Amino acid sequence: MRIILMGPPGAGKGTQAEMVKKVYPIAHISTGDILRENVKTSTDLGVSAKRYMDAGSLVPDGLIIDMMESRLGNEDARAGFMLDGFPRTVAQAEALDELLDKMGVHIDAAILLEVDDEIVVERLTSRRVCSACGAIFNVIAHNTKVENVCDECSGTVIQRDDDKESVIRNRLSVYHNETAPLVDYYEKRGKLRRVSGIRSADGGVLSCLESLKN
Ligand code: AMP
Repeated sequence: MRIILMGPPGAGKGTQAEMVKKVYPIAHISTGDILRENVKTSTDLGVSAKRYMDAGSLVPDGLIIDMMESRLGNEDARAGFMLDGFPRTVAQAEALDELLDKMGVHIDAAILLEVDDEIVVERLTSRRVCSACGAIFNVIAHNTKVENVCDECSGTVIQRDDDKESVIRNRLSVYHNETAPLVDYYEKRGKLRRVSGIRSADGGVLSCLESLKN
């Protein structure tokens, strides 16, 4: 199974991907996670990407496409994958199609998690993540038992710099300008599936995958 999870920042792609992983043994490839790891370890890619990420802008296509070419070549991606946060521009989608063509495989579905901007702003400003294991919390809906301490690993729980409101507004406008055209791209190719991002954690993507199998 090869799928793309699409949707604005804060649509719940990461949460849905975690649920899918428990049922389907496919690689979860999040460009945001790979980039954050590169920033943390100060690789050349991380140093180049950081200023774009801090501003909520997109990292240039060339860097992302090279990074994904290398990631999709990994052994664990052979059995299938779920792309989270990629592609984010039409140029990235075209590069992905070329790459998959060379690999002799194709995308089964691009699943769009739909959610309104104001809900995104509320969700993301209340989102917190564990700086050690990446577990996701929410100060309104699902806070840590002990303030700022991860329930899973006792790591420090923080607010991502790009989850501050001004940055979120910029990420949303980047989404509408650069990424929303991909809805058309995948719709024209008969790959688009729409799922509500409002009913969080209710198996929306999982039921969509079930229907794809039938
Ligand atoms: P995310 O965790 O997916 O919201 O990604 C965090 C940040 O990483 C984004 O705001 C972008 O700066 C950068 N990023 C992640 N994926 C991509 C991509 N496919 N193309 C360009 N920039 C990306």
